[in-house]
Amino acid sequence: MNAPFKTRLIFKSLFILIAGFLATASYAGEATIRIAATTTMVADLARSVAGDRAEVAGLMGPGVDPHLYKATASDINTLQSADLIFYNGLHLEGRLADILVKLGRRHKPVYAVTESIPVAKLLEPEEFEGHYDPHVWFDPRLWAHCVETVVLALSEVDPKHADEYKERGAAVEQSYLDLYKWGKRYLAPVPAEHRVLITSHDAYNYFGRAFDFRVIGVQGISTQSEAGLADMVKIIEFIKKNGINAIFVESSVSPAAIQRISEGSGCAIGGELFSDAMGLPGHIESAADGSSFDVGTYEGMVKANIATIADALQ
Ligand SMILES: [Zn+2]
Repeated sequence: MNAPFKTRLIFKSLFILIAGFLATASYAGEATIRIAATTTMVADLARSVAGDRAEVAGLMGPGVDPHLYKATASDINTLQSADLIFYNGLHLEGRLADILVKLGRRHKPVYAVTESIPVAKLLEPEEFEGHYDPHVWFDPRLWAHCVETVVLALSEVDPKHADEYKERGAAVEQSYLDLYKWGKRYLAPVPAEHRVLITSHDAYNYFGRAFDFRVIGVQGISTQSEAGLADMVKIIEFIKKNGINAIFVESSVSPAAIQRISEGSGCAIGGELFSDAMGLPGHIESAADGSSFDVGTYEGMVKANIATIADALQ
């Protein structure tokens, strides 16, 4: 063995030793689980169930569109150093999903939270071309199903605290079911003939089914394709014929198409809805019933949408 090679070998062994020491040091004692999550909704779900047992790093911030999102170099670092990864699944994370699947193959625990939703409850609209609609979080009852995957994953990574995850998971599930009931009550004054939700892209099919609205997305399934002129003309005619009193822009999609439809039809823009991302953390909004909520949380995001829709369409 020549001398330079020997030196390299010694350095390499030293490096492994130090790296090993650091790794043990950071996990010793009150260890926290490092979780990486894709969308803001998935990060919120993971945080709610894990409590202070985990540190959750969300890859996508407020206003970020998951359909078009490309991983950055720092995302790859976050994913690689995570103990556990959660994503939405159902093809929501268009480009990122390939990386997640690869990490899963390398035995990194990677979970799609939507895995625990019974398939019979998923929608498969024609325009989704054989795929399930991924925007499940707008029916809080479906989002409640996703808690099961998070509890299971956390219990596998950290079996010592499985009871704690189960208990917290049950409380989170109940809070989502209560949120659904709140939404039903809040939307009750909207008359049947006004229950039409026209928005930028097809993010509200589950919302429509859960809360009895007809839903029309100008841009179709993902945000990848732009709305065609023919589609816009059709929607303008529909608005005029049915006396629709408000249409809505989305926080993570360009408002251009909706603005043009508003101009073409004379229909007001009823406000901005959160679609594929939550709002800024700590930003407080309030509803007409006096309740106030943080739009940087899942619950606040859903409530803000419901309040915007109810106020504009009543
Ligand atoms: Zn979407």
